[in-house]
Amino acid sequence: MARQGSWRGELLGGFAVVAICTLLGGLFQQAVLGFALANVGILLYWSWHLRMVQRWLDRPLEDPPTGRGVWGHLLDSIFRLQRQNREAQSRLESALDYLQDSLASMRDGGIIVNNRGGIAWANASADYLLGIRFPEDRGQSLLNLVRMPEFQSYYESEDFTHPLRVTNVSEDERSLQFEITRFGAGDRLVFVRDITDTVRLEQMRRDFVGDVSHELRTPLTVLKGYIDTLTDLEVFSARQYSKPLEQMQQQAARMENLLRDLLWLSKIETFESHRKTERVNIGSVLSEMVGELRAAYPERTVALKIEGDTTIIGDEPELRSAFSNLIVNALKYSDKEVAVVWHAGADVSEFSVVDQGSGIAAKHIPRLTERFYRVDKSRSQNSGGTGLGLAIVKHVAAAHQAELVIESELGRGSRFGVRFYSARKGRP
Ligand code: ADP
Repeated sequence: MARQGSWRGELLGGFAVVAICTLLGGLFQQAVLGFALANVGILLYWSWHLRMVQRWLDRPLEDPPTGRGVWGHLLDSIFRLQRQNREAQSRLESALDYLQDSLASMRDGGIIVNNRGGIAWANASADYLLGIRFPEDRGQSLLNLVRMPEFQSYYESEDFTHPLRVTNVSEDERSLQFEITRFGAGDRLVFVRDITDTVRLEQMRRDFVGDVSHELRTPLTVLKGYIDTLTDLEVFSARQYSKPLEQMQQQAARMENLLRDLLWLSKIETFESHRKTERVNIGSVLSEMVGELRAAYPERTVALKIEGDTTIIGDEPELRSAFSNLIVNALKYSDKEVAVVWHAGADVSEFSVVDQGSGIAAKHIPRLTERFYRVDKSRSQNSGGTGLGLAIVKHVAAAHQAELVIESELGRGSRFGVRFYSARKGRP
């Protein structure tokens, strides 16, 4: 049995009409006429329905006309599909409106840039932070409107793994942070955030630490002077005085190292964003440094291997302090040979120090560069460290757009490396 409204039913109905008309025609000796009339009738009937469907499709918002058989079924199906489509479209439109509303109301500036570099959309904060007006600036080149050299080179570098900070942007010394994400066919979403308060707070913290360390140096020098004088006096040579005096001397020396490292760290942080433009010969820096350390640790073996080009663009005192911190750490935390290696490749040059010491458990590695973080507090303090060495190395690396790489295995040893990228190569 053919289902009502199915094409089979429609076909069977058509055949039945043709058969009946041919039979009726046959009764009057006009079978061919009956057959032809039936076919013409069916054709007219289908054409009329087709016209009905077409007229309705031209006005899709109207309710569908009522059709018979398969035509009614077809019209209902099309109507149902259209309704589902309209609902999906309106859901999408409201989701898009919602998204645009939330982006528009953000305190951060948001700009969508098409793959030709033209502005496709921007929110109100982009106007406040960068002076980009939307829709007036639609299609304008973003780089023509944001004329900060740092932003231009960041945008063109195509490397958006880290956000870009630009300080003292305008007369009101605003600081901005940019983040760029690529999506679609080369389009970009640019986020810009006002970080003036954060930058000021960081500056205040740096100044505070620097000022306190500086202020503490004078009283410490006085105390240290008196302790040295007392130690030299004959009256205090008895054991009950010499022991505490020795400890006072040790602690004063520790405090002095601490203040020296704190001051150095705050200086490096302050000048981190300044361009380092000196040509530094890493080969002679390392030969000299390793020579001094061999003299200071005569019982230890420090191997030095230098491969490839040895000149890089940077700041010599900063690089010296980073390298010496890493070598001294290797000497402090191991008792076998320490290998110092400089390897310059085509794109990457790396300074590394390899030791066969106690190694560091993986869970400590991400925290090693935090100030005063120690894996084994008592051991590190006995070794005379300040807990600031790796923090200094991290900042020196960041100031040179380099990376501090730490690989370590418990019980087998560690490898600390500073990886420089091609932009720092000393060749023109
Ligand atoms: P410290 O003055 O305590 O040496 P650092 O910042 O230089 O401070 O190092 C932080 C901690 O990292 C150290 O206390 C030590 O626990 C660990 N560490 C650093 N270098 C090594 C190394 N080569 N082998 C094992 N542990 C190390």
